[in-house]
Amino acid sequence: MRFANRIERLPPYLFAQISKKVAEKKAQGIDVISFGIGDPDLPTPPYILDALQDAAQQPQNHRYPETEGLPEFRQAVADWYDRRFSVKLDPAKEVLSLIGSKEGIGHVALCFIDPGDIALVPDPAYPVYAIGTMFAGGDTYTLPLREENGFLPDFDAVPTDVAARAKVLWLNYPNNPTGAVADIDFFERAAAFAKKHDIAICHDGPYSEVSYDEYVPVSFLQANGAMDVGIEFHSLSKSYNMTGWRIGMAVGNPLIIDALMRVKSNIDSGQSQAIQQMAIAALTGPQDVIEDHNAIYQRRRDKVVDALRKLGLQVTPPKASLYVWARVPNGMTSAQFAERLLDKAAVIVTPGNGYGEYGEGYVRLSLTLADDRVDEGLRRIAAVPALV
Ligand SMILES: *Cc1c(COP(=O)(O)O)cnc(C)c1O
Repeated sequence: MRFANRIERLPPYLFAQISKKVAEKKAQGIDVISFGIGDPDLPTPPYILDALQDAAQQPQNHRYPETEGLPEFRQAVADWYDRRFSVKLDPAKEVLSLIGSKEGIGHVALCFIDPGDIALVPDPAYPVYAIGTMFAGGDTYTLPLREENGFLPDFDAVPTDVAARAKVLWLNYPNNPTGAVADIDFFERAAAFAKKHDIAICHDGPYSEVSYDEYVPVSFLQANGAMDVGIEFHSLSKSYNMTGWRIGMAVGNPLIIDALMRVKSNIDSGQSQAIQQMAIAALTGPQDVIEDHNAIYQRRRDKVVDALRKLGLQVTPPKASLYVWARVPNGMTSAQFAERLLDKAAVIVTPGNGYGEYGEGYVRLSLTLADDRVDEGLRRIAAVPALV
Protein backbone atom coordinates (compact mmCIF):
# COMPACT_ATOMS: atom_id res chain seq x y z
CA MET A 1 0.00 0.00 0.00
CA ARG A 2 1.32 3.47 -0.83
CA PHE A 3 -0.44 6.09 1.23
CA ALA A 4 -0.38 9.83 0.65
CA ASN A 5 2.23 11.91 2.52
CA ARG A 6 -0.53 13.50 4.56
CA ILE A 7 -1.24 10.14 6.18
CA GLU A 8 2.44 9.63 7.03
CA ARG A 9 2.64 13.16 8.43
CA LEU A 10 -0.41 12.74 10.63
CA PRO A 11 0.51 12.69 14.33
CA PRO A 12 -1.26 10.04 16.41
CA TYR A 13 -4.58 11.53 17.58
CA LEU A 14 -3.93 12.67 21.14
CA PHE A 15 -7.08 11.27 22.66
CA ALA A 16 -6.75 7.98 20.81
CA GLN A 17 -3.44 7.43 22.65
CA ILE A 18 -5.07 8.25 25.97
CA SER A 19 -8.01 5.93 25.25
CA LYS A 20 -5.53 3.14 24.55
CA LYS A 21 -3.77 3.65 27.89
CA VAL A 22 -7.11 3.63 29.69
CA ALA A 23 -8.07 0.40 27.92
CA GLU A 24 -4.77 -1.22 28.99
CA LYS A 25 -5.30 -0.28 32.65
CA LYS A 26 -8.93 -1.40 32.54
CA ALA A 27 -7.85 -4.75 31.09
CA GLN A 28 -5.66 -5.12 34.20
CA GLY A 29 -8.76 -4.55 36.35
CA ILE A 30 -7.69 -1.05 37.39
CA ASP A 31 -10.38 1.64 37.85
CA VAL A 32 -9.08 4.60 35.87
CA ILE A 33 -10.43 8.11 36.50
CA SER A 34 -10.11 10.33 33.47
CA PHE A 35 -9.80 14.11 33.52
CA GLY A 36 -8.64 13.66 29.92
CA ILE A 37 -11.39 14.27 27.43
CA GLY A 38 -13.72 17.28 27.26
CA ASP A 39 -17.05 15.60 26.68
CA PRO A 40 -19.98 16.59 28.94
CA ASP A 41 -20.98 13.73 31.25
CA LEU A 42 -24.47 15.15 31.79
CA PRO A 43 -27.25 13.94 29.47
CA THR A 44 -28.89 15.97 26.69
CA PRO A 45 -31.87 17.82 28.29
CA PRO A 46 -35.23 16.01 27.86
CA TYR A 47 -36.98 18.72 25.79
CA ILE A 48 -34.23 18.37 23.17
CA LEU A 49 -34.60 14.58 23.06
CA ASP A 50 -38.39 14.98 22.69
CA ALA A 51 -37.78 17.04 19.55
CA LEU A 52 -35.73 14.19 18.07
CA GLN A 53 -38.47 11.66 18.81
CA ASP A 54 -41.06 13.80 17.04
CA ALA A 55 -38.76 14.57 14.11
CA ALA A 56 -37.80 10.92 13.65
CA GLN A 57 -41.47 10.03 13.02
CA GLN A 58 -41.77 12.43 10.10
CA PRO A 59 -40.94 10.88 6.70
CA GLN A 60 -39.59 14.13 5.23
CA ASN A 61 -36.76 13.84 7.75
CA HIS A 62 -35.78 10.41 6.40
CA ARG A 63 -34.48 11.94 3.20
CA TYR A 64 -31.28 13.80 2.27
CA PRO A 65 -30.98 17.17 3.98
CA GLU A 66 -29.78 20.30 2.18
CA THR A 67 -26.08 20.97 2.80
CA GLU A 68 -26.72 24.49 4.09
CA GLY A 69 -29.24 23.28 6.66
CA LEU A 70 -32.97 23.69 7.15
CA PRO A 71 -34.21 27.29 6.79
CA GLU A 72 -35.75 26.89 10.27
CA PHE A 73 -32.38 25.83 11.70
CA ARG A 74 -30.60 28.78 10.13
CA GLN A 75 -33.32 31.12 11.40
CA ALA A 76 -33.02 29.69 14.93
CA VAL A 77 -29.25 30.24 14.83
CA ALA A 78 -29.66 33.82 13.58
CA ASP A 79 -32.28 34.58 16.27
CA TRP A 80 -30.03 33.07 18.96
CA TYR A 81 -27.04 35.18 17.85
CA ASP A 82 -29.24 38.28 17.97
CA ARG A 83 -30.63 37.47 21.43
CA ARG A 84 -27.33 36.35 22.91
CA PHE A 85 -24.82 38.72 21.28
CA SER A 86 -26.92 41.36 19.44
CA VAL A 87 -25.23 40.12 16.26
CA LYS A 88 -27.53 40.34 13.20
CA LEU A 89 -27.14 37.53 10.69
CA ASP A 90 -28.93 36.87 7.41
CA PRO A 91 -30.04 33.25 7.86
CA ALA A 92 -29.97 32.64 4.09
CA LYS A 93 -26.39 33.80 3.51
CA GLU A 94 -24.58 34.06 6.81
CA VAL A 95 -25.45 30.78 8.56
CA LEU A 96 -24.41 27.24 7.60
CA SER A 97 -25.16 23.98 9.40
CA LEU A 98 -22.25 21.66 10.20
CA ILE A 99 -21.99 18.00 11.17
CA GLY A 100 -20.48 19.14 14.44
CA SER A 101 -18.23 22.18 14.27
CA LYS A 102 -15.12 19.98 13.98
CA GLU A 103 -16.27 19.00 10.51
CA GLY A 104 -16.39 22.63 9.33
CA ILE A 105 -13.13 23.49 11.10
CA GLY A 106 -11.41 20.67 9.24
CA HIS A 107 -12.95 21.49 5.87
CA VAL A 108 -12.61 25.28 5.83
CA ALA A 109 -8.88 25.02 5.05
CA LEU A 110 -9.97 23.81 1.60
CA CYS A 111 -11.56 27.25 1.08
CA PHE A 112 -8.34 29.17 1.70
CA ILE A 113 -5.24 27.06 1.51
CA ASP A 114 -3.39 26.09 -1.65
CA PRO A 115 -0.10 24.20 -1.42
CA GLY A 116 2.52 26.49 0.13
CA ASP A 117 0.01 28.94 1.66
CA ILE A 118 0.29 29.82 5.33
CA ALA A 119 -2.24 29.55 8.14
CA LEU A 120 -1.52 31.39 11.41
CA VAL A 121 -2.29 28.88 14.13
CA PRO A 122 -2.08 29.40 17.89
CA ASP A 123 -0.06 27.03 20.07
CA PRO A 124 -1.25 25.37 22.27
CA ALA A 125 -4.48 24.70 20.36
CA TYR A 126 -7.17 22.27 19.33
CA PRO A 127 -5.22 20.11 16.83
CA VAL A 128 -7.71 20.36 13.94
CA TYR A 129 -6.64 23.89 12.86
CA ALA A 130 -3.11 22.74 11.98
CA ILE A 131 -4.13 19.36 10.61
CA GLY A 132 -6.78 20.84 8.31
CA THR A 133 -4.07 23.19 7.01
CA MET A 134 -1.70 20.27 6.41
CA PHE A 135 -4.42 18.27 4.61
CA ALA A 136 -4.89 21.20 2.22
CA GLY A 137 -1.14 21.30 1.54
CA GLY A 138 -0.48 24.44 3.54
CA ASP A 139 2.08 25.37 6.16
CA THR A 140 1.39 26.46 9.71
CA TYR A 141 3.02 29.50 11.26
CA THR A 142 2.85 29.19 15.03
CA LEU A 143 1.43 31.98 17.21
CA PRO A 144 2.69 31.20 20.72
CA LEU A 145 0.07 31.62 23.47
CA ARG A 146 2.07 32.69 26.52
CA GLU A 147 0.76 32.89 30.03
CA GLU A 148 2.27 36.38 30.54
CA ASN A 149 0.11 37.60 27.60
CA GLY A 150 -3.04 36.01 29.01
CA PHE A 151 -2.67 33.25 26.40
CA LEU A 152 -3.46 35.74 23.60
CA PRO A 153 -1.30 35.83 20.45
CA ASP A 154 0.94 38.84 19.74
CA PHE A 155 0.11 39.98 16.19
CA ASP A 156 3.04 42.44 16.20
CA ALA A 157 5.42 39.49 16.43
CA VAL A 158 4.28 38.07 13.06
CA PRO A 159 6.98 38.92 10.46
CA THR A 160 5.70 41.05 7.55
CA ASP A 161 6.59 38.45 4.90
CA VAL A 162 4.69 35.77 6.86
CA ALA A 163 1.65 38.05 7.24
CA ALA A 164 1.79 38.74 3.49
CA ARG A 165 1.68 35.02 2.66
CA ALA A 166 -0.87 34.08 5.31
CA LYS A 167 -4.41 33.37 4.11
CA VAL A 168 -6.14 32.54 7.38
CA LEU A 169 -5.81 33.23 11.11
CA TRP A 170 -7.22 30.81 13.69
CA LEU A 171 -8.47 32.00 17.08
CA ASN A 172 -10.35 30.21 19.86
CA TYR A 173 -11.83 31.95 22.93
CA PRO A 174 -12.90 30.88 25.51
CA ASN A 175 -9.81 28.78 24.84
CA ASN A 176 -9.24 25.08 24.81
CA PRO A 177 -6.87 24.03 26.41
CA THR A 178 -5.82 27.10 28.47
CA GLY A 179 -9.26 28.28 29.63
CA ALA A 180 -8.24 31.85 28.66
CA VAL A 181 -10.82 34.39 27.50
CA ALA A 182 -10.67 37.31 25.07
CA ASP A 183 -12.56 40.61 25.06
CA ILE A 184 -13.98 42.66 22.20
CA ASP A 185 -10.93 44.91 22.19
CA PHE A 186 -8.69 41.91 21.41
CA PHE A 187 -11.03 40.75 18.64
CA GLU A 188 -11.00 44.26 17.14
CA ARG A 189 -7.21 44.23 17.07
CA ALA A 190 -7.36 40.80 15.39
CA ALA A 191 -9.85 42.05 12.78
CA ALA A 192 -7.69 45.13 12.06
CA PHE A 193 -4.58 42.95 11.65
CA ALA A 194 -6.50 40.63 9.31
CA LYS A 195 -7.87 43.50 7.26
CA LYS A 196 -4.43 45.10 6.91
CA HIS A 197 -2.88 41.89 5.53
CA ASP A 198 -5.97 40.53 3.73
CA ILE A 199 -6.18 37.46 5.98
CA ALA A 200 -9.43 35.68 6.81
CA ILE A 201 -10.20 34.96 10.48
CA CYS A 202 -11.74 31.70 11.62
CA HIS A 203 -12.84 32.04 15.21
CA ASP A 204 -13.76 28.83 17.02
CA GLY A 205 -16.14 29.61 19.88
CA PRO A 206 -17.87 26.47 21.20
CA TYR A 207 -17.38 27.51 24.87
CA SER A 208 -19.18 30.87 24.76
CA GLU A 209 -21.93 29.48 27.00
CA VAL A 210 -19.71 27.62 29.47
CA SER A 211 -18.62 30.32 31.92
CA TYR A 212 -18.25 31.02 35.64
CA ASP A 213 -18.40 33.71 38.30
CA GLU A 214 -20.87 35.91 36.34
CA TYR A 215 -18.39 36.21 33.47
CA VAL A 216 -20.18 36.46 30.09
CA PRO A 217 -18.02 35.59 27.05
CA VAL A 218 -18.36 37.65 23.86
CA SER A 219 -18.64 36.56 20.23
CA PHE A 220 -15.89 37.47 17.76
CA LEU A 221 -18.66 38.82 15.51
CA GLN A 222 -19.44 41.55 18.05
CA ALA A 223 -16.12 43.20 17.19
CA ASN A 224 -16.05 46.07 14.68
CA GLY A 225 -14.82 44.78 11.34
CA ALA A 226 -15.23 41.11 12.24
CA MET A 227 -17.97 40.40 9.69
CA ASP A 228 -15.76 41.87 6.93
CA VAL A 229 -12.96 39.41 7.51
CA GLY A 230 -14.19 36.32 9.26
CA ILE A 231 -16.52 33.65 10.45
CA GLU A 232 -17.22 32.02 13.78
CA PHE A 233 -17.63 28.31 14.36
CA HIS A 234 -20.12 27.40 17.06
CA SER A 235 -21.63 24.22 18.30
CA LEU A 236 -24.48 22.76 20.29
CA SER A 237 -22.04 20.19 21.74
CA LYS A 238 -20.75 21.92 24.83
CA SER A 239 -23.69 24.25 25.57
CA TYR A 240 -26.39 21.56 25.57
CA ASN A 241 -24.51 18.29 26.23
CA MET A 242 -24.94 17.25 22.61
CA THR A 243 -21.47 16.06 21.56
CA GLY A 244 -22.90 12.73 20.41
CA TRP A 245 -25.47 14.28 18.08
CA ARG A 246 -22.97 16.17 15.91
CA ILE A 247 -24.54 19.53 15.17
CA GLY A 248 -22.81 22.88 14.85
CA MET A 249 -22.76 25.98 12.69
CA ALA A 250 -20.54 28.43 10.89
CA VAL A 251 -21.74 32.05 10.88
CA GLY A 252 -20.44 35.34 9.58
CA ASN A 253 -18.95 36.66 6.36
CA PRO A 254 -21.25 35.53 3.50
CA LEU A 255 -18.38 34.96 1.02
CA ILE A 256 -16.66 32.54 3.40
CA ILE A 257 -19.96 30.85 4.30
CA ASP A 258 -20.69 30.37 0.59
CA ALA A 259 -17.21 28.95 -0.09
CA LEU A 260 -17.53 26.50 2.81
CA MET A 261 -21.01 25.49 1.65
CA ARG A 262 -19.61 24.77 -1.83
CA VAL A 263 -16.79 22.64 -0.41
CA LYS A 264 -19.17 20.74 1.84
CA SER A 265 -21.79 20.15 -0.83
CA ASN A 266 -19.13 18.19 -2.72
CA ILE A 267 -18.09 16.12 0.31
CA ASP A 268 -21.10 15.55 2.57
CA SER A 269 -24.85 15.90 2.43
CA GLY A 270 -25.44 17.89 5.58
CA GLN A 271 -26.66 16.89 9.01
CA SER A 272 -29.87 14.88 9.42
CA GLN A 273 -32.94 17.11 9.60
CA ALA A 274 -34.10 15.31 12.75
CA ILE A 275 -30.86 16.33 14.47
CA GLN A 276 -31.29 19.89 13.18
CA GLN A 277 -34.73 19.81 14.85
CA MET A 278 -32.99 18.99 18.14
CA ALA A 279 -30.78 22.03 17.65
CA ILE A 280 -33.82 24.23 16.97
CA ALA A 281 -35.42 22.95 20.19
CA ALA A 282 -32.19 23.62 22.09
CA LEU A 283 -31.71 27.17 20.78
CA THR A 284 -35.35 28.24 21.12
CA GLY A 285 -36.20 26.35 24.33
CA PRO A 286 -35.66 27.23 27.99
CA GLN A 287 -32.06 28.35 28.50
CA ASP A 288 -31.88 27.76 32.26
CA VAL A 289 -30.22 24.38 31.59
CA ILE A 290 -27.06 26.29 30.71
CA GLU A 291 -26.92 28.01 34.08
CA ASP A 292 -27.60 24.68 35.80
CA HIS A 293 -24.73 22.97 33.94
CA ASN A 294 -22.37 25.85 34.62
CA ALA A 295 -23.11 25.69 38.35
CA ILE A 296 -22.07 22.03 38.30
CA TYR A 297 -18.88 22.70 36.33
CA GLN A 298 -18.02 25.65 38.55
CA ARG A 299 -18.28 23.48 41.67
CA ARG A 300 -15.95 20.94 40.05
CA ARG A 301 -13.58 23.67 38.90
CA ASP A 302 -13.29 25.02 42.44
CA LYS A 303 -12.51 21.56 43.82
CA VAL A 304 -9.88 20.87 41.16
CA VAL A 305 -8.18 24.27 41.53
CA ASP A 306 -8.20 23.92 45.32
CA ALA A 307 -6.71 20.43 45.25
CA LEU A 308 -3.98 21.33 42.75
CA ARG A 309 -3.02 24.45 44.72
CA LYS A 310 -2.77 22.40 47.91
CA LEU A 311 -0.21 20.27 46.09
CA GLY A 312 1.74 23.42 45.31
CA LEU A 313 0.86 23.64 41.61
CA GLN A 314 0.37 27.04 40.01
CA VAL A 315 -3.10 27.37 38.52
CA THR A 316 -5.41 30.25 37.55
CA PRO A 317 -9.12 29.38 37.86
CA PRO A 318 -10.63 29.61 34.35
CA LYS A 319 -13.49 32.11 33.81
CA ALA A 320 -14.88 29.90 31.04
CA SER A 321 -14.38 26.59 29.15
CA LEU A 322 -14.42 23.08 30.56
CA TYR A 323 -10.72 23.00 31.47
CA VAL A 324 -8.26 23.70 34.23
CA TRP A 325 -4.78 24.40 32.80
CA ALA A 326 -2.14 23.84 35.45
CA ARG A 327 1.63 24.21 35.48
CA VAL A 328 3.43 20.96 36.24
CA PRO A 329 5.98 20.90 39.08
CA ASN A 330 9.42 22.35 38.34
CA GLY A 331 11.83 19.92 36.81
CA MET A 332 9.13 17.71 35.29
CA THR A 333 7.79 17.59 31.75
CA SER A 334 4.07 17.46 30.99
CA ALA A 335 4.38 13.85 29.90
CA GLN A 336 6.36 12.81 32.98
CA PHE A 337 3.78 14.37 35.28
CA ALA A 338 0.84 12.83 33.42
CA GLU A 339 2.54 9.43 33.37
CA ARG A 340 3.22 9.60 37.08
CA LEU A 341 -0.44 10.33 37.82
CA LEU A 342 -1.51 7.46 35.63
CA ASP A 343 0.95 4.99 37.16
CA LYS A 344 0.61 6.00 40.82
CA ALA A 345 -3.03 7.12 40.97
CA ALA A 346 -4.69 5.65 37.87
CA VAL A 347 -5.74 9.20 37.01
CA ILE A 348 -5.63 10.58 33.47
CA VAL A 349 -4.75 14.19 32.76
CA THR A 350 -3.79 15.49 29.32
CA PRO A 351 -0.16 16.52 28.86
CA GLY A 352 -0.08 20.10 27.55
CA ASN A 353 2.50 19.37 24.85
CA GLY A 354 -0.19 17.33 23.08
CA TYR A 355 -1.62 20.73 22.05
CA GLY A 356 1.70 22.05 20.75
CA GLU A 357 5.20 22.85 21.95
CA TYR A 358 4.07 25.92 23.93
CA GLY A 359 1.80 23.64 25.95
CA GLU A 360 4.89 21.98 27.41
CA GLY A 361 5.05 22.51 31.16
CA TYR A 362 1.29 22.29 31.63
CA VAL A 363 -1.41 19.67 31.97
CA ARG A 364 -5.10 20.01 31.19
CA LEU A 365 -7.83 18.68 33.46
CA SER A 366 -11.33 18.45 32.03
CA LEU A 367 -14.35 19.06 34.27
CA THR A 368 -16.64 16.62 32.45
CA LEU A 369 -16.74 13.76 34.92
CA ALA A 370 -19.25 13.03 37.68
CA ASP A 371 -18.71 14.78 41.02
CA ASP A 372 -17.92 11.58 42.93
CA ARG A 373 -15.27 10.74 40.31
CA VAL A 374 -13.81 14.23 40.63
CA ASP A 375 -13.61 13.77 44.41
CA GLU A 376 -12.07 10.31 44.16
CA GLY A 377 -9.61 11.43 41.46
CA LEU A 378 -8.46 14.40 43.53
CA ARG A 379 -8.13 12.20 46.64
CA ARG A 380 -5.90 9.82 44.69
CA ILE A 381 -3.75 12.65 43.31
CA ALA A 382 -3.29 14.07 46.81
CA ALA A 383 -2.15 10.65 48.05
CA VAL A 384 0.66 10.18 45.50
CA PRO A 385 3.88 10.44 47.51
CA ALA A 386 6.41 13.11 46.53
CA LEU A 387 4.38 14.22 43.53
CA VAL A 388 5.67 17.77 43.64
C1 LIG B 1 -15.18 20.51 21.44
C2 LIG B 1 -14.49 21.45 20.53
C3 LIG B 1 -14.90 21.60 19.20
C4 LIG B 1 -15.77 20.61 18.48
O1 LIG B 1 -17.05 20.60 18.76
P1 LIG B 1 -18.06 19.76 17.88
O2 LIG B 1 -19.08 20.75 17.48
O3 LIG B 1 -18.56 18.70 18.79
O4 LIG B 1 -17.36 19.16 16.69
C5 LIG B 1 -14.30 22.58 18.43
N1 LIG B 1 -13.34 23.34 18.91
C6 LIG B 1 -12.89 23.22 20.17
C7 LIG B 1 -11.81 24.11 20.64
C8 LIG B 1 -13.43 22.26 21.02
O5 LIG B 1 -12.95 22.12 22.23
